[in-house]
Amino acid sequence: MIPAQVDVLIVGAGFGGSLLAQILAKSGKQVALVERGSHPRFAMGESTSPLTNLLLEQFAQAYDLPHLNHLATWGAWKANIPNVGVGLKRGFTYYGHPADGSVAGVRGPLAVAASPGNSCADTHWLRSDVDAWLCKQAIELGVHYAERTSVIDATPCENGRWRVVVRYENGDEATINAGFLVDAGGRTAALADYVGAKATAFSEYPDTVALYSHFENVALAADVPELGAPENAPYPVDWSALHHVFPGGWMWMLRFDDHRVSAGVSVERWLSDEVSLLEDGGWERLLARMPAVQKQFAGATRVLPWMQADPLPVRLDRVAGVNDTAPWAFLPSAAAFIDPLYSTGFSLTLLGIERLAPLILNGTSSESDLAVYEAAVQRDISCVARYISANFVAFSDFERFTDVSMFYFAAASWSEICRRIGKRALAPGMLLSGDDAFWQGFDAYLAGECTAADAIAPWNIAGLADRSKSGMYPANLADVIAAAEKLGLSQAEMEVIINDADWARCD
Ligand SMILES: Cc1cc2nc3c(=O)[nH]c(=O)nc-3n(C[C@H](O)[C@H](O)[C@H](O)COP(=O)(O)OP(=O)(O)OC[C@H]3O[C@@H](n4cnc5c(N)ncnc54)[C@H](O)[C@@H]3O)c2cc1C
Repeated sequence: MIPAQVDVLIVGAGFGGSLLAQILAKSGKQVALVERGSHPRFAMGESTSPLTNLLLEQFAQAYDLPHLNHLATWGAWKANIPNVGVGLKRGFTYYGHPADGSVAGVRGPLAVAASPGNSCADTHWLRSDVDAWLCKQAIELGVHYAERTSVIDATPCENGRWRVVVRYENGDEATINAGFLVDAGGRTAALADYVGAKATAFSEYPDTVALYSHFENVALAADVPELGAPENAPYPVDWSALHHVFPGGWMWMLRFDDHRVSAGVSVERWLSDEVSLLEDGGWERLLARMPAVQKQFAGATRVLPWMQADPLPVRLDRVAGVNDTAPWAFLPSAAAFIDPLYSTGFSLTLLGIERLAPLILNGTSSESDLAVYEAAVQRDISCVARYISANFVAFSDFERFTDVSMFYFAAASWSEICRRIGKRALAPGMLLSGDDAFWQGFDAYLAGECTAADAIAPWNIAGLADRSKSGMYPANLADVIAAAEKLGLSQAEMEVIINDADWARCD
């Protein structure tokens, strides 16, 4: 049962809600966490990125939550929480497929490593396990948790607080007086009606839908001759977030260590209509257009029901505010969902928590404080949408897609290193959303005024957009040292930082 009065009520015990609850509880707040489902439960969104993992490490340190370090690298995970389902993710891999389905037209792979070895590698989260584990940690830290529980009313009341009515699993209703209301309910917009937030559309973004599930016995791309893996690939290509891109959409394949595979497609409406994707047999009809991918799934068995998101992108017009002096906020993942390409969801969620937690902890939750949070989240969301939209245009031309992808990898590696060396101000927002010069370069590239290599040059610390590498990009700290001056350091200074850093050691 939840106490009648709490400092913060969080709706939704996904990884975002449970994590924010832990941070607040550890810092002394009375926190209620209500979940309409029950753990363990399926959740989508599994692939991490270096920024996700770095943010987790930084939360572990800043809020004295050392167990979060277990999630931050594949090596720490296997050593500390081997029973929580995980997959090794060494990087991002892409194959391109032509509209005519010809095997000769298959392109790639483009393989961009995120780590030089396994021990410090990114991961795929088996969300049913991970979310249950995070929720358990929250409970152990004193969070008041109720599952199979719904919010049925929320109104601002006296003294800038909320009166929230919840209904428990047994049908009992209770009123909770909360000082701050957080929506961490993912795509459901759980609190939108109570706070007055409305659905809105992305501008200039394609109308897309998604279909996805988990599978067993999916063949390795490396074993399918039409796909294959070059000998100089920087990692075994299947131990990555593996993508197939094609005119109108893309497919993800995330392999867990037990060889289960999370796979799904995100496609434009016209393509979904052409193959009746969301009707029986739609997956097979889409795969029939890509014989090489079809081979990967020839012996596969689906082990979960089909899930779909139609439409895939969703967005609210408001992210945070104060209603009659009572403060509220949505985590970014509750305010919008764009597309899982480049695994931006976790990082967006964590950047939101990084911004929101101090506001709640310091009691700086005035209209103007929350307006700053709202503006930052909206800017991140708009930037990611603008970027993903350009990818959809590029999917039909693999060379162009490769160029467009370099903007993500440049922004991501730049942001990671800036954080690691204590120069966060050089990397404002998700995908450098606060750096106008980066986005001007992107526009100039899209307008054909410069090459991708020229546009990303000021932020390129990872040897990206180098055609001599034929799409094979190892994670090489020598590239970072060579580019030290872009970060305001000499090469010798950067070498010292890297030689001293734990994060730079990896087997
Ligand atoms: C198809 C797809 C693929 C994705 N792939 C990736 C990826 O590879 N990498 C990545 O970084 N991100 C990915 N994402 C995004 C990722 O899923 C989200 O960023 C992440 O799940 C957000 O976590 P969360 O805890 O905020 O929300 P969720 O994981 O959605 O959890 C929300 C929780 O709130 C509960 N809830 C909802 N409504 C209510 C209510 N009214 N009352 C009580 N409880 C409620 C739900 O039951 C759920 O447990 C993907 C998303 C989709 C749709």
